Amino acid sequence: MTTASRSIQILPDLVVNKIAAGEVVERPASVLKELMENALDAGATQVDVEVAGGGRLLVAVSDDGVGMGRDDALLSIERHATSKLRDIGDLDHLQTLGFRGEALAAIASVSQFTLTTRPRESAAGTELSVMGGKLKDVRDAGCPPGTSIQVRHLFFNVPARRKFLRSEQTELAHLRQVFVEQALSHPERGMKMTADGRELHRLTGGATLEDRLRELYGKEVARWLRPVKGKDSLLEVEGLISLPEGGRSDRSEQHIFINGRVASAPLIAYSITEACRQIYPRGRHPVLVLNLRMDPASVDVNVHPAKREVRFRNPTLVRDFLVEVLRSAFTGGLSPAIPVADLSAFQMPPRAKDTRELFPSIPSRVPDPAVRYPSAPPAEPFRAPAPISAPPEKPMAPGKEPWSWHRILGQVGGHFVVMETEDGLVLLDPQAAHERVLYERFMADAKRRKVVLQGLLSPQTVELPPRDAARIRENLPTLKQLGFGVSEFGQDAFLVDALPAGLGDVSPEKVLAGVAEALEEMGARSGAARDVEDSIAQSACRTAVRFHKQLAPQEMEQLVNDLAKTMMPYTCPHGRPTVIYMGFDELNRKFGRT
Ligand code: ADP
Ligand code: MG
Repeated sequence: MTTASRSIQILPDLVVNKIAAGEVVERPASVLKELMENALDAGATQVDVEVAGGGRLLVAVSDDGVGMGRDDALLSIERHATSKLRDIGDLDHLQTLGFRGEALAAIASVSQFTLTTRPRESAAGTELSVMGGKLKDVRDAGCPPGTSIQVRHLFFNVPARRKFLRSEQTELAHLRQVFVEQALSHPERGMKMTADGRELHRLTGGATLEDRLRELYGKEVARWLRPVKGKDSLLEVEGLISLPEGGRSDRSEQHIFINGRVASAPLIAYSITEACRQIYPRGRHPVLVLNLRMDPASVDVNVHPAKREVRFRNPTLVRDFLVEVLRSAFTGGLSPAIPVADLSAFQMPPRAKDTRELFPSIPSRVPDPAVRYPSAPPAEPFRAPAPISAPPEKPMAPGKEPWSWHRILGQVGGHFVVMETEDGLVLLDPQAAHERVLYERFMADAKRRKVVLQGLLSPQTVELPPRDAARIRENLPTLKQLGFGVSEFGQDAFLVDALPAGLGDVSPEKVLAGVAEALEEMGARSGAARDVEDSIAQSACRTAVRFHKQLAPQEMEQLVNDLAKTMMPYTCPHGRPTVIYMGFDELNRKFGRT
């Protein structure tokens, strides 16, 4: 092309819209998102979604919202036509989901588009047909108040984009994801979704978030949910998060909303991971719905045209607050703010197939051996094999703790403790269990600033490699607070004259080396004071725990009871499981018994 033949031209609207469509409309699911958001912005109490052919044939949304008069309807499909934003100042206090005024124009430019709408106060409605961005028809229409939009044959005039659409199932999965997100962010609105004539969801309006989650995911998921709640001057957080028992192997069921808008931000993902670090085993993730409310001026939603990714004006504050609030959702069992009914979820046996192996159930009553073991030998004392610890004579009251009824059978493999609980077999790793117990005690003491020092008979000097020494030096005040009597003693050497009492008889050298390593590992991560303490406690507990010996029956009993009293009995502080559970149901199934 020669430069002489070129001149600058303003692109016609039709072309601009088609280009914009590339940003706003990636696939049928993006159309659905824009249409649903518009319906919600219009104050609809009921939003009905219909799709066909994975959204290629049809994406339609009808609402009972405010509707539009004819002029507004015609304007609505013009680029940058919006009723939601008047001037630049408005960008700082957006209350609506849309504001760019480009969605309808973009969608209409790449589809066969019909809009039918009627404000409640008008007798007649309007119907517009647009074909590839060109207005084809405008006429009066008899229709109920509200707006109904049909988008057919998306990308019919953009073959290049059509080619990038995936299979019907994949596109439908994306459509459903959008529907679920909108449903979760607005449980108060009624919603329905139909695909190829089949009803997928019918959600009643006026619901709470918990109702809605139950409607969408079923009782099994709902039973493991714990409330998340917190508020400070910057941010209000409300939502639900699952305990490890209700966790998933991926993050697909984590839904974040900021001021009612679906949002994502690396910072939020990071905060979730951080909050779950010692609670979830590696590779497991919570089901999570988080509603963040904050001053629209302190969050920038305009980063991406699809308006998902957000930026915070105060990232550090948001992160620290989120981590704190999420963590307290797990451990907040002690807070009176949480209804007792929710606590009981924590004590119920898991039934979800994918978690049953990891987590033990919590008995609520003592089993009747005659029912459980129809073919077991008769229960005369002289013929039954002597249990290592006899089961309690009388059923205990439904316990607050897991394994309130249990019978320890012994140790296998020179290590694992085997026990029977009301409805299954539990294998317990004494090392992981002990770590959990020590760690929680340690942190509880640290929190109350009540660590007990235990002086060493003879103070010891510990020399460390320079990097480790530097880490320890940086954190001396924290170590002191946690009960470590450590002071500098020349270059890269330290004098240790006391250790936290809970650690028992450990080598100061090993503890300090372990702590240095943990601090190193933590390095890049947040470094909030609480995390430093956490890291130190974790590594110290790990060093302190060594089980290379046979445990006496009383020791096993003690450990099981101590573990049952912890807040997170099912994983060690590093996220390894403390117990593996096999239910009698499962055993019966494996043995082919019915
Ligand atoms: P935005 O939502 O960013 O304002 P859109 O292109 O999505 O831009 O919509 C343009 C305008 O059309 C909106 O500002 C609104 O006034 C009107 N509109 C769109 N959908 C509806 C609806 N379902 N009910 C009432 N008005 C609507
Ligand atoms: Mg919109």
